[in-house]
Amino acid sequence: MYIAKNVVEDLVWEKLFEIIAVNPLKCNCSKCVVDIVAYALNELKPHYVTTMRGEAIVKTNALNAQVLADVVKVLSRGIMLVGENPKHSDVDLVKR
Ligand SMILES: [Zn+2]
Repeated sequence: MYIAKNVVEDLVWEKLFEIIAVNPLKCNCSKCVVDIVAYALNELKPHYVTTMRGEAIVKTNALNAQVLADVVKVLSRGIMLVGENPKHSDVDLVKR
């Protein structure tokens, strides 16, 4: 079965984990992490490809260098914004 997949979404998660490995987040509860991803995906233009469900996509073939640079730039801004103004509740912090 074919699906339309937003390769930017995969790329945002991948780059976020790369950034976190070097610069840990102020808070790494799931609320803050997903808030950063949601912020980035709202800022970035989606890029859909047609693929078979479960099939690995070579993302860098689908995207140009400018998109990769934009992902890192927007993620950095999202990390800063969420870090300064976290939306997590006490419950989120207990659950992490
Ligand atoms: Zn948090």
